[in-house]
Amino acid sequence: MNRDNSEKLFRKALELIPGGVDSPVRAFRAVGGTPLFMKKGAGSKLTDEDGNEFIDYCMSWGPLILGHADADVITALRETLADGTSFGTPHAKEVELAEIVTGAFESIEKVRFVNSGTEAVMSAIRLARGFTGRDKIVKFEGCYHGHADHLLVAAGSGLATFGTPDSAGVTAGNAKDTIPLPYNNVEALKSYLEKEGKNTAAVIIEPVPCNYGLILPEDGYLAQVRELCDRYGIALIFDEVITGFRLSPGGAQKYFGVKADLTALGKIIGGGLPVGAYGGRADIMDMVAPDGPVYQAGTLSGNPLAMAGGISTLRRLLAGGNYEELQHKADFFEQALRPALEKYSGKILFQRIASIFSFCFTGLNSIKSVDDIKKADTKAFASFHAEMLSRGIYLSPSGFEVGFISLAHSNGDLEKTAEAVFESLEATLG
Ligand SMILES: *Cc1c(COP(=O)(O)O)cnc(C)c1O
Repeated sequence: MNRDNSEKLFRKALELIPGGVDSPVRAFRAVGGTPLFMKKGAGSKLTDEDGNEFIDYCMSWGPLILGHADADVITALRETLADGTSFGTPHAKEVELAEIVTGAFESIEKVRFVNSGTEAVMSAIRLARGFTGRDKIVKFEGCYHGHADHLLVAAGSGLATFGTPDSAGVTAGNAKDTIPLPYNNVEALKSYLEKEGKNTAAVIIEPVPCNYGLILPEDGYLAQVRELCDRYGIALIFDEVITGFRLSPGGAQKYFGVKADLTALGKIIGGGLPVGAYGGRADIMDMVAPDGPVYQAGTLSGNPLAMAGGISTLRRLLAGGNYEELQHKADFFEQALRPALEKYSGKILFQRIASIFSFCFTGLNSIKSVDDIKKADTKAFASFHAEMLSRGIYLSPSGFEVGFISLAHSNGDLEKTAEAVFESLEATLG
């Protein structure tokens, strides 16, 4: 595979941009080699600066559930663009997208748009603190909630009483009110809340953690978390930046039948443009400025192009039959993978929920916690990733990231990918 142009661009980028990238995992450090500089996306495919074409499963880390450069989305963006890029005033498309989001999520009565998932989560936490008048927040090990200071808290093993910062530049003061607890462990949450429940503003959770490999919730876990929050008057925040509009039209909440008080959204709701949103119970959302005392603002929030990206994506997606079709595609993919997974069973674990999947090089037959994932063979993943790339398949460049199937992936794409998986496992595991 020729990477000359990517290599040239990367050398220059390294001089100008830290690590040559605007978001760390993109640098390919987890898998080795030069990151590919992409030039064009169309449907399920990405083409790089050297003209190599790939079937893409990163899909911009989740937003592109319709595929790259969907015709409806591109048309909506062109039409919106012709009227200007930003007004700095309210406009009709914010109302339209808010109507779609509140219509899809039973728990979201009011919603505020921001510019990223990070901002959505950060604002939801501030709001929960403002609403409850309490300081502490509980998060779960392995759950990623963007890069706000107080959420970059280490998921140290065991029941850390106080969080320790996960990143340089985060003060102990910033981390001290963030309590990391193990995911899928009701007892740990229960015993923490018995002591500190009345001081806890929010419990924030990725209902299905997708940022430290893929971890699935055990039966009843999310409902028990809900119950404990109710018992102590704590705001339950679902970070549905990935799962929102991915697992179902009503996100993980509809999928599992558990309602959050506040929900953070992003990714799919912008259809590939920078966006985030937080929403929930009206009595809580009414605490946000200008109605209430919790401040939150944004120069480009509700940007017309971002709103148009979201509206066109969600209108297409919510039209009948698409979630069933995604499920069929994902089932077909899993079926096609069977020979490879059987041959290498005990060495690789394929996990999936709806159209989200992950390959984990582990002998375990399920992943329940971060500790399970830490045992995975990251070197084997790096080799597997390189083998897949050489066969024209683009997976996210880290074993801790998940893959996404879109409506643009054809059965042919999925079959070809399954063949590449077989060969790549053979090359990696022998
Ligand atoms: C991507 C992601 C975020 C952060 O969103 P950004 O738009 O990257 O700031 C937060 N939470 C979850 C669950 C995510 O997957």
